[in-house]
Amino acid sequence: MNEKKYDLTAWPEGKLEYLGHCPMCGSVDRTLLHDGLIDNLFFCSPGKWSLHKCRKCLAAYVDPRPTADSMYLAYRHYYTHDASSSNAPVSMSLAQTISRSIGNGYRNWRYGTKLSPSTIFGVPVTYLLPKLKRTIDVQFRCLPATATRKRVLDVGFGGGVFLDYAASMGWDVAGVDIDEVVIRNGKARGIDARQGSIEAFADQPESFDYITISHVIEHVYDPVETLKIAYRLLKPGGQLWVDTPNIDSYGYAHYGANWLGVDAPRHLLIFGWDTMSYALKQAGFNEWRHVDRAHSALTVFPLSEQVLRHSRTGTDPFSEAPPKPAPEARMAALKSKVFKRHAEFITVIAVKK
Ligand SMILES: [Zn+2]
Repeated sequence: MNEKKYDLTAWPEGKLEYLGHCPMCGSVDRTLLHDGLIDNLFFCSPGKWSLHKCRKCLAAYVDPRPTADSMYLAYRHYYTHDASSSNAPVSMSLAQTISRSIGNGYRNWRYGTKLSPSTIFGVPVTYLLPKLKRTIDVQFRCLPATATRKRVLDVGFGGGVFLDYAASMGWDVAGVDIDEVVIRNGKARGIDARQGSIEAFADQPESFDYITISHVIEHVYDPVETLKIAYRLLKPGGQLWVDTPNIDSYGYAHYGANWLGVDAPRHLLIFGWDTMSYALKQAGFNEWRHVDRAHSALTVFPLSEQVLRHSRTGTDPFSEAPPKPAPEARMAALKSKVFKRHAEFITVIAVKK
């Protein structure tokens, strides 16, 4: 049994920023979604938090929120510094070898990698297994295959798994992260890594063909400014991939404060579909498409179920494996196939004209 317990101490006095309005659109028109939220995921953040929903752009946001200079307190046990590659050789059973060969067959065909073991039959088989295909496409963030050297920037690259994939496809890889250990590990692996926010690359306008912001935009203080800089850094015709939790999801409707995507106070602002449209337009984009994330309910529901169960004892929800997806998770996955704006994540690819 994991002995981690909630941190019930208060956030330091004088280190709270009171907004009174939506940090996305500035509207003061709002409803209170939750009061007294505590860090029920990583157990490292002090404080209790209120989550509000903007009536104009439909964002959910934490107010008051930690000041930028005190935010590190919410990340003390949060970072992972695993620099290992997900394709490290391991001994596999026959079934695992077949399964890996099928996925790699599709990866090599679609993304131009040279992974093994692999079979060309993986291409049609993966098309018959939409969950597998979607999982791989999200891993690769729909990065286009390329025959020429192109540049990709990952904002908040963390363990660097995605940039490893991109490098194996022949892309020149760059990344920013606020964590210095991440930067050190990244440089050692050939990543053009800079410490800080996306602004660290502000001296290179129109120099990237693809920029990815995966599960980062909900952590930043000014998401529109981040998207504006991404717009400036993209070449004309370049594309931006954004992936973030969806406050309009079936998962949030079902689990409320115990939904995985709430994660206060680290998730300063949680997007809905309308929020994303508003933010992309503000940043200069006027063309984007949504990536199908219907299957995400099969992952997010069981993890949120864990958070809910452990909230009764105040113990670490990740100390045991999550349960199998319950019928309501399968139903949510099915429904969000049709009602796409209620999937667990908002995943968009925006194009700079
Ligand atoms: Zn708003």
